[in-house]
Amino acid sequence: MANILEQEIKFLPGIGEKRGNLLTKELNISTFRDMLYTFPFKYIDRSKVYAISEIEPTTAYIQLRGKITEARIEGNGPGKRLVCTLRDSSGSIDLVFFQGIKWISEKVTKHKGDDFIVFGKPTEFNGRRNIVHPEMDPVSESSRDSIPNTMVGVYSSTDKLRNSGISIKVFSKFQHTLLEKVLPQIKETLPDNIIRRYNLCPLKYALTNIHFPKDMVSLSHAQHRLKFEELFYLQLSLLKQKNIRMAAECGQIFKKVGTAFNYCYSHLNFELTGAQKKVIKEIRSDMASGKGMNRLLQGDVGSGKTLVAFLSALLAVDNGAQACIMAPTEVLAIQHYKNFIKLMEGSNVNIALLTGSTKKKERVSIDTGLREGSIDILVGTHAVIEDNVVFKNLGFVVIDEQHRFGVDQRARLRFKSGIAPHVLVMTATPIPRTLAMTLYGDLDVSVIDELPPGRKPIQTLALKESQRYKLYEFIKKEINQGHQAFIVYPLIKESETMDYKNLEEGYLNITENFPAPEYITAVVHGQQKNENKQYDMELFAKGRAHILVATSVIEVGVDVPNASVMVIESAERFGLSQLHQLRGRVGRGAEKSYCILMTGYKLSKESKRRIELMCATNDGFELAEEDLKMRGPGDLDGTRQSGLAIDLKISNIAKDSLILNTARNAAEEILAQDPLLEKQESMIFKRELQLLKETTPIEIDYSKIS
Ligand code: ADP
Ligand code: MG
Repeated sequence: MANILEQEIKFLPGIGEKRGNLLTKELNISTFRDMLYTFPFKYIDRSKVYAISEIEPTTAYIQLRGKITEARIEGNGPGKRLVCTLRDSSGSIDLVFFQGIKWISEKVTKHKGDDFIVFGKPTEFNGRRNIVHPEMDPVSESSRDSIPNTMVGVYSSTDKLRNSGISIKVFSKFQHTLLEKVLPQIKETLPDNIIRRYNLCPLKYALTNIHFPKDMVSLSHAQHRLKFEELFYLQLSLLKQKNIRMAAECGQIFKKVGTAFNYCYSHLNFELTGAQKKVIKEIRSDMASGKGMNRLLQGDVGSGKTLVAFLSALLAVDNGAQACIMAPTEVLAIQHYKNFIKLMEGSNVNIALLTGSTKKKERVSIDTGLREGSIDILVGTHAVIEDNVVFKNLGFVVIDEQHRFGVDQRARLRFKSGIAPHVLVMTATPIPRTLAMTLYGDLDVSVIDELPPGRKPIQTLALKESQRYKLYEFIKKEINQGHQAFIVYPLIKESETMDYKNLEEGYLNITENFPAPEYITAVVHGQQKNENKQYDMELFAKGRAHILVATSVIEVGVDVPNASVMVIESAERFGLSQLHQLRGRVGRGAEKSYCILMTGYKLSKESKRRIELMCATNDGFELAEEDLKMRGPGDLDGTRQSGLAIDLKISNIAKDSLILNTARNAAEEILAQDPLLEKQESMIFKRELQLLKETTPIEIDYSKIS
């Protein structure tokens, strides 16, 4: 027998063809299952009645009690409506109905003088408060009719639904009908031992109480169970995919530590940090395992990820393979290239640079070098993933600042070679552990949690426009002590022209206040010719310019240890992780560094909070957690760009991290016993995963992210 949950929603009594279509269009509900798993987004205590005078502009759903003192028809044609005035001892409000006018008028007439209980969401129309299509029942009837508990779920709705008579109450009734119909046939989705071990309530109980909670306690049991289940299956699916990949995919075996690695290592003029050593060890062990490496390297800005990547590339070279390091911007690719050349000066490791602006002639010789294998390491921008770039034996790929690359681009690099190369994805946007687990559940994660010694914490402060002169005095003081300063302007796609105007004006203002030849100011932005960009960048990097005026897009990863001041203009327009990234451009030398956030006078609550957080902490992971809490996972820098928005029905990655951890552990334990879920007792998991795949296709193929 077909599963009852797969039935089309129109077959639910009371719904029918027309409403069914509407539910599908408006709320994406097309089957019984969709409906059942559409949960209230909040609950209201229906035992409480508010006074009309208590309504505020921000009031959401509210319950009122009063008499209908007037009922009139307004407008005509499609705008025709019934307007009833509800009055209590504190004031009055209009109740507006577009549908069912006749029926409601009759009800009002019949119960003239009675108290009505009204429930709905106040809005404002033409300066007057009203409630459109509230539930409205005479007190005498409402107790008989209403569901017998006081906690009432509120479901998302749309104007179209409300206007077609699918009020919250009606929607609730559908749920009620549905539950009665399907409950006897609902199959448990978790095995007994898990339910017992993690203290979960049965699925039937959970589904009943999520829609119609008996009380707070039952509701929280229901929520817990459903969140656990959701996160458990998400983790199980990710980890299983990882197992499949591990079983299928072999990797080149790089066992040797040879001359290239040792050359670089012995020419460093500092000691690797403990964290860097630990990560290199992890990478070495992956590379020697015979399995393909898929590792995410997280480390705060300035923690020295580049060097780890480079040393790992040298390991590949020592074992006769080629390596490719891909950076998100040209400026950064060039910087990496130059650093590596300098580190390897005098060795016989051959490093090449390939970007969009590499000249034709050079391009030809690079192509040859890559095919023949005379080039050991290729550094570049996304130009390196073009189809005509062919390696002799690509063994290792590094993707720096991965959040700037699309999933698709990453997948392409990965398939550039017969045996998939080992892949290291580096991110400087610290992803909270919980989110990393969800998004990158199938990658191994390394963390550099230690900064090179001698770094002084960066002092961050916020200034307003009126304090600009103070800012300039301060920058001058720093420059006179031999330091340099960045001044960064926001660049937001939608208002690009305006942003450049800001930058240009800012640049003029700076050159006026910091006149040459005493002060030299360089400028770098996206609309410049490459040579000019390159020239100005170098001017600053070499210390010949004191100030670099730039847009935010340009500077990711730029390393100028002598810079001690980072000024961020219109700081309120940046996200938290971006602010932190920018700040990380300073504080790389031994000098005390400063980050100064210039803001406007009127800040939104969130902007204000971001600025405060920046001033309060230097810890990227802490900021990332806060960011996640403030914005939700789909919005986090980097996840959206890479197409990794995740759609969870009930869990919240930021708030449910404890449940996520438990669910993750549970999934790990199961897979440790049965890596591909082939045993008889794993049938239930297999069934659910299959269902998950059919009903909520995860848009991204997680196995190809790396
Ligand atoms: P990120 O992790 O942000 O990419 P980088 O790799 O750019 O950081 O490193 C930041 C700076 O720290 C560079 O100038 C690099 O040479 C330096 N550095 C890296 N590792 C060490 C170390 N162990 N000791 C001292 N300086 C280091
Ligand atoms: Mg970097």
